[in-house]
Amino acid sequence: MADLKFTPERRMLIDGQLVFADSGKEFDNISPVTEEVLGTVADASAAEMQRAIKAARRAFDTTDWSTNHQFRKQCLLQLHEALVAEKEELREEIIAETGAPRAVTYMAQVDGPLADGVLWPAHQIDEFPWKRRLPDAEMFGSVSHREVWKEAMGVIGAITPWNYPFEVTINKVAQILATGNTMVLKPAPDTPWNATRLGRIVAEKTDIPAGVFNVVTSSDHLVGEELTLSPDVDMISFTGSTATGKRIMEKGAATLKRVFLELGGKSAMIVLDDADFSAVVPMASIVCMHAGQGCAMQTRLLLPRSRYEEGVELIKAGMSFFPYGDPDDMANMMGPLVSEKQRDRVLGYIQKGIDEGAKLVVGGGKPAQMEKGWYVEPTLFIDVDNSMTIAREEIFGPVLCVIPYDDDADAIRIANENEYGLSGSVFGSHERAVAVAAAIRTGSIGVNGGVWYGADMPYGGYKTSGIGRQNGIEGFEQHLETKIIAWPAGA
Ligand code: NAD
Repeated sequence: MADLKFTPERRMLIDGQLVFADSGKEFDNISPVTEEVLGTVADASAAEMQRAIKAARRAFDTTDWSTNHQFRKQCLLQLHEALVAEKEELREEIIAETGAPRAVTYMAQVDGPLADGVLWPAHQIDEFPWKRRLPDAEMFGSVSHREVWKEAMGVIGAITPWNYPFEVTINKVAQILATGNTMVLKPAPDTPWNATRLGRIVAEKTDIPAGVFNVVTSSDHLVGEELTLSPDVDMISFTGSTATGKRIMEKGAATLKRVFLELGGKSAMIVLDDADFSAVVPMASIVCMHAGQGCAMQTRLLLPRSRYEEGVELIKAGMSFFPYGDPDDMANMMGPLVSEKQRDRVLGYIQKGIDEGAKLVVGGGKPAQMEKGWYVEPTLFIDVDNSMTIAREEIFGPVLCVIPYDDDADAIRIANENEYGLSGSVFGSHERAVAVAAAIRTGSIGVNGGVWYGADMPYGGYKTSGIGRQNGIEGFEQHLETKIIAWPAGA
C-alpha cells in the first residue's frame, strides 16, 4: 500500500453505521500517477444498496427531517465546519485519487465548492418561500383561501462521477439535505474516498439522523442501478456521461422517477474578428486543465477565417507550453487521465481525428518523459470540420479542435450544430459578443472572461447536456414537490 498524507475511510455509511460490505469484499483505489494501489474501500452488493435505500426511506417517512428547518440548518452548518477542518487532508486525498493538479484543488476541485457549496443552501432554508399565498378566489359560491406549499421530494439517489468528485458531490448533498430530502450517495468507483470521508464526517461530526445520509461504494455500476429501479427512491440526481444519463431515464421510467441529469458537453469558444487575439486565443489551452476532464471544457475553438493563421500560431504556442506533469507540483495545471481506460479512450479519439483528416499540430500521444501514469500530451487539431467525430463527441481529454468560420452567423451555426449545449464563451467587442452569446443554445456562457461559477448559479445543460440545474434557486426547487392547498376563507 502507498504511503499516504491522509487517512482514507474504507467504510460505507448505512443507516447511521460505518460498515464494510457483508461479504467483506473491498476494491482497489488506484493512483493515476503511479498506477499503483493506493488502498481499498468496501465493495457493496445490491443487498447493501437496498439496505441503504430502506434506511433513507424510513428516515424520510418517520422522522421530522423533512419539516424541521432549524435542525436541518444547524446540521448543515456542522457539516460545513467539519469539512473545513479536514480541508488539507481532503486536498491530498483528491490529488491522490483523481490525479488532479494541486493548483486546481485551490479552485473548483476543493476550495471553490467548500467556500459556499454547503453554506449557500443552508442559508436558503431561512430565505426560501416555503409557502406562498395566492389571492382568495370564489368558486361554486364559496370563497377559498389558497396557498402553494413547497415540500421535500422524498428519497434521492445521487450518482457522481470521478472528474470533480468532491465538487459534484457536495453540491448535490447540500442541496438535497437543505431541501429536506434523505439520500443515498453512490460515488464513481475510480474516486470513492472523498465520499466515504463525507460519510464518516456526517456520522461522527454532525447530528444528521441515522438514515438521512447514506454512502454506498461499489465496483459494480449495476449496484448504482438499484437506485434507478427502486420504488422507494423518488428522484435520481446524476452527473456523468450522456449514455448513462439516458439509461437512468429509461430504467427510472417504470417508477416515473424524477431526474436531474448533468451530462456531457462539447462547448465552443468563439473568438470574433475584433477580439484582442494575443490576450485571448492562448487562453483556449485551458481546455487541458485537469487533463481536459471537465464537462464545461471548451473543446472547439472557433476562429474567423480572416485571422485564422494568426490565431492558429497563438494557440499552437499556448498548447505547446501548457504546464503538465506530476500533479503534486504547483506549477502544473494538468496531470494524468483518471484511468487506463480513459487514457486509451482519449488516444482512440486522437487516432480517429487523424483518420478523418484533421491536422494534428501539437501532441497526440503519450508523453515520452513520463514513465508511469496515464498521461496524454496536450493535443491540438486544426482545420477541423464540425462534422468530424472529434468535433462532435465528448473526448474528456486534453484535446482542442480549431474550426474556421466565415462570419458571426456562421460561428453561431457551427457552435449550435452539436447535440450538446452545456457551456461556451465569446470574445470580442462587448455588444457584438453578447449578441452572439444570446444566440448560442447552451446552459452557461462567458463573455470576455466573465465567470459564472458559484453555489448561487444554476448550472446545467440544454439539449443532450442534461435536464435540470445544479445549484442556485432553480437547483434548490428541483428537489421539491409542489402542493396546492385551500380552505374556506376566514377559517
Ligand atoms: P459514467 O457515466 O459511466 O459514470 C458516472 C457514474 O455513473 C459512476 O458513478 C458510475 O458508477 C455510475 N453508473 C454507471 N452506469 C450506471 C448505471 N447503469 N446506473 C446507475 N449508475 C451508473 O461515466 P464513465 O464511464 O466513468 O466515463 C465515461 C465518459 O463519461 C467520460 O469520458 C465523459 O465523457 C463522461 N463524463 C462526464 C462527466 C460530466 O461531468 N459531465 C463526468 C464524468 C464522465
